[in-house]
Amino acid sequence: MTETNILRLRVSICGAVQGVGFRPFIYRLAHELNLAGWVLNSSGGVLIEVEGERKQLNKFLLRIEKDKPQNAFIQSLEPAFLDQVGYKKFEIRESIIGEKSVLILPDIATCPECIKEIFDPQNRRYLYPFTNCTHCGPRYSIIEALPYDRPNTTMKNFTMCQNCEAEYNNPQDRRFHAQPNACSECGPYLRLWDAQGQVTATRQQALEKTVQAIKAGQIVAVKGLGGFHLMVDALDQDAISRLRLRKHRESKPLALMYPSLVDIYNDCELTPLQERLLNSAEAPIVMVRRKEECSLPNNIAPHNPYLGVMVPYTPLHHLLLQQLGSPVVATSANLSNETICIDEQEALRCLAGIADIFLIHNRPITRHADDSIVRIFSGREIVMRRARGYAPLPITLTAPVKNTVLAVGGHLKNTIAIGRGRNVFVSPHIGDLDAARTFDTFVRTIDDFKDLYEFDFKNAVCDLHPAYRSTQFVKSLDFPVLQVQHHYAHILSCMAENELAAPVLGVSWDGTGYGPDKTVWGGEFLKINDKGFERFMHLREFHLPGGTSAVREPRRIAARILYELFGDELFDMHKLLCLQAFSEAELKNLRVVLEKKINSPVTSSMGRLFDAVSSLLGIRNIIQFEGQAAMELEFAIKDASTEDIFSIDIKDGIIDGHLVLKEILGDIEKSVNTKIIAAKFHNTLAQIIVEVAKEAKIEKVVLSGGCFQNKYLTEHAIDRLRKAGFKPYWHQRVPPNDGGISLGQIISAQRDG
Ligand SMILES: [Zn+2]
Ligand SMILES: [Zn+2]
Ligand SMILES: [Zn+2]
Repeated sequence: MTETNILRLRVSICGAVQGVGFRPFIYRLAHELNLAGWVLNSSGGVLIEVEGERKQLNKFLLRIEKDKPQNAFIQSLEPAFLDQVGYKKFEIRESIIGEKSVLILPDIATCPECIKEIFDPQNRRYLYPFTNCTHCGPRYSIIEALPYDRPNTTMKNFTMCQNCEAEYNNPQDRRFHAQPNACSECGPYLRLWDAQGQVTATRQQALEKTVQAIKAGQIVAVKGLGGFHLMVDALDQDAISRLRLRKHRESKPLALMYPSLVDIYNDCELTPLQERLLNSAEAPIVMVRRKEECSLPNNIAPHNPYLGVMVPYTPLHHLLLQQLGSPVVATSANLSNETICIDEQEALRCLAGIADIFLIHNRPITRHADDSIVRIFSGREIVMRRARGYAPLPITLTAPVKNTVLAVGGHLKNTIAIGRGRNVFVSPHIGDLDAARTFDTFVRTIDDFKDLYEFDFKNAVCDLHPAYRSTQFVKSLDFPVLQVQHHYAHILSCMAENELAAPVLGVSWDGTGYGPDKTVWGGEFLKINDKGFERFMHLREFHLPGGTSAVREPRRIAARILYELFGDELFDMHKLLCLQAFSEAELKNLRVVLEKKINSPVTSSMGRLFDAVSSLLGIRNIIQFEGQAAMELEFAIKDASTEDIFSIDIKDGIIDGHLVLKEILGDIEKSVNTKIIAAKFHNTLAQIIVEVAKEAKIEKVVLSGGCFQNKYLTEHAIDRLRKAGFKPYWHQRVPPNDGGISLGQIISAQRDG
């Protein structure tokens, strides 16, 4: 299968797109680009399907937003690339008046007209930070109940002034029935708090003092749309260090907010697709390559060629960034992996000792929504964190769900999901359930979804892992519970969004997942059939010396695999960087652990093999955040362009990762450049997928799990599979990491239940 094959592109659009000449526009555009398919109105918005070559489809996608009719406004646009069905012509189809829509729109970035108003001294909303209209502004984060009317939002306590009321009641006005409509006379306003919560300024003065504080190197907690950010001047290395120190965030990359797209150009390389995403109503953080000459301090994203960037998406952010005139670090205000703070009292408590001052306002946030994160893989967007702007818009299935189930997801990067009709509503990213605050949010989100969607579930689905807090929670309720194997759920989620039916070969690679044999899985090839799965092949198992401490210390895993290869000889291999990373005392200790296999569970985890290689090459011996060792191994490839691979040995359903490590050792001894070794390792894994696919004799190969957040691995696996005649599928709207588990669990309940 080659790149030039015909694909089907589905585009779901919400917004002011009905009755504005949108369908005729799509009709003309499809004809101009020679694409077959259809367009129709549905209760949820406009649906489009077109078929053609990928290049034409991308052009179509970019031109929808660029050339749309003047009065059309897009509040959400989600593309999905699917297999072709063979449309012959393009047509406008009859509208579907389906089930009354229960769509709750995500929060929408400020529209160009509102931006114009807040910067126009003649306009009555000049410099007003809570300006919005029917096209833009808060939705999900202010809704308390449905239907979406002002008394059901956190705007209920603000009585509209005469001017606002007139706009609200005028069908000709852009603010006709705009529920959060407000102005400086009648709406929410800003306050600046010191670290003790004492008001030091209000309204315009609060904004000006915030700008001064950021310029002076202070750390400011800013209440935004779906929660608080911590902001510091992105050009101030010391301020960033201070933020890292106080937040206990040593080296995990920090996101940036730029005043505008033009400013991003100075520091980063942007493709048309990335530009589209940055400017979209979803306004996510987009991962882009930083330019060589980029002068930002290195401690924003150490050892990382990418930057996570976004542009302002609320009037408050626009005003702040415009006055600053340069980018800020804008990171979720929380402690590591906790839920983002949404309430000012909570922020004051949780951010004590972190934030110097607090820029707050009196429009309450009902529920949290972190910034979403999007990357481009193989010329297509992939959502790595699905939250503000995307959630809770549904993933649509090919058939209605049979059972109304609640899926409670995994443990890390948790999301929950409910299925209703053909829609699966996946919650925004919740976080890692270890933290008490995050677990509270998890419970609250379940209650919230029950109320919002008037959802009365009879069954629940959870992970197979008995120690996950999500599993324990759902088992404490009085419902029949289905437990689903983690890697199977990964593959089902990817199948669902690509509309695939069995048989497929699932390549499910991540750090950890509980296997039915009670070992830790993670380097899995699953044959998916109509009912369930078969563990077709997996990575050769090894021990994790010290259990969780091995996860924190890739050097332990490298040492373990080498010990399994060389036994006691290992301790004479003094040149090894992974061994040099231990002190004498630690080595002594390690030796005992290795010999006696103390606290050393068995695993087939691919994520851990990445860790081992990262340590072996001296890249990362101890991690500071999840996935760091693997990430830095990918980045170590730099500009290496080799298609070479190491030897591949597959016997009796076992892929020998130990052999790969042995060959890497050989390369190290021959002083082969690290970037070449890193590339060869990735190429080898991509080729292993091809070899297993050949043995499985299944055309469709589905890539899921945390390892496929790796751009090089994913793109090379796709290329190699295509060249060998297979059809690769990967994620688009749902993350490949554990954020996708809840969707997979819903699907499993349909297959098995
Ligand atoms: Zn607007
Ligand atoms: Zn007003
Ligand atoms: Zn996983």
